[in-house]
Amino acid sequence: MEDTKHCMTCRTEEETAFYKPHKHICRECLNAQNKARWEAQKKEREEWLAKWEREHGETWEAHQAKHAAKEAAKQGAREEAQRRSEIEAISPHIPSKVFSTSWLYCHNETMAYPERTTTSGKWLLFKRKGDELDTLWFQVVELLKAEKLGRAAKVSTMRADEKKEEGVICVYTYSLEDLADVRRIRAVLRNEAGITYKIAYKLDSKAGVEYAPRLYTHISSLYE
Ligand SMILES: [Zn+2]
Repeated sequence: MEDTKHCMTCRTEEETAFYKPHKHICRECLNAQNKARWEAQKKEREEWLAKWEREHGETWEAHQAKHAAKEAAKQGAREEAQRRSEIEAISPHIPSKVFSTSWLYCHNETMAYPERTTTSGKWLLFKRKGDELDTLWFQVVELLKAEKLGRAAKVSTMRADEKKEEGVICVYTYSLEDLADVRRIRAVLRNEAGITYKIAYKLDSKAGVEYAPRLYTHISSLYE
């Protein structure tokens, strides 16, 4: 028979009201047991923390702070990506609003203009990304549509070389060997798009060499 009148731990006799219904333990012993369990857990936790901090060479708090900062950065990046995709959805044809692809292209398919050759190339127009590049691109698109250039042009977006401050517009011609055509297009850019300073013409066969104003002397076929 179970002894329902005595605490199973201290064996003192208690009033029935002090017994936990099924544990046969008095309040005092129960409290003591709980406190011992809690202290053991606390000690275990402290030992684990001390070991962890020895192994990682940093405090748990510092680690948590770093983790939180990393999570915040990730969240920031997610929000930025969302912001960019919303901007791009509204303005998919504006270079400074496009992040998902490196280049925007414009073609005039109706124009009577020779097919591209092995000596094809382009005039390179460098502009600061943002309003300057956007504005020049719109001018180039208008000139292309008006059949005043060649058949094609492209512009770098915010994705291409994101760290660079300058973007580039390539105005294509079908062949460097048709110097009259190359210079005709150069003149249009000077007279109708305000490109009065010297610019470089680069052969498509030199693709792969980085587009950069400073490399003009190495890769340019013309600079005028
Ligand atoms: Zn007891």
